[in-house]
Amino acid sequence: MSTPACAGCGRQVRLKASSPAGPICSACHARRHTGTCGSCGRDTVLVGRNSDGQPWCNRCYTAATAAHLAEQRRDIVVAAVAVVEPGLTDDAVRAAIDATGIRGQRRLACHLQDHPDALRSGPNSAPPALGRFVQALVAAGAQRITLIHPVCADWLRPRASPAGPSAWTSWLQPNVFFRK
Ligand SMILES: [Zn+2]
Ligand SMILES: [Zn+2]
Repeated sequence: MSTPACAGCGRQVRLKASSPAGPICSACHARRHTGTCGSCGRDTVLVGRNSDGQPWCNRCYTAATAAHLAEQRRDIVVAAVAVVEPGLTDDAVRAAIDATGIRGQRRLACHLQDHPDALRSGPNSAPPALGRFVQALVAAGAQRITLIHPVCADWLRPRASPAGPSAWTSWLQPNVFFRK
């Protein structure tokens, strides 16, 4: 049994792709899928079609996917804020998201998905992206959302001081304050 030839160039090489004429090699596959990207205008390998139905390149496809993901993350955050703070407009919330910086947005959306109560009951001063976001919401006029540090929750909880009473008495001893 002989190796089938590429339906495009006739070479007897490994055939990795299919075409209407039969199996073709990777070189022919690339050649057939090369053209002008409908989004950026580069002559390059095309990977599919954009929302306008034009063929587009891998770079445009990747950028559009990233933009789509970013928009999904913003929707998650906007929805999380709307539950706690319905008085804030979506635009105000989106401006606050922008204030957290582009790199913090993914962290922000993931954290709010994992901790849906963080905005309402805290702590929300960390991760830093969330802390910046909460401060931006407060600046935008949020009434129910405030910055809550984890240490505040610990402080309000009635429990024994981990250091014990001896730590307090050493503070009260005069030589701590009036050391010569
Ligand atoms: Zn070929
Ligand atoms: Zn392109």
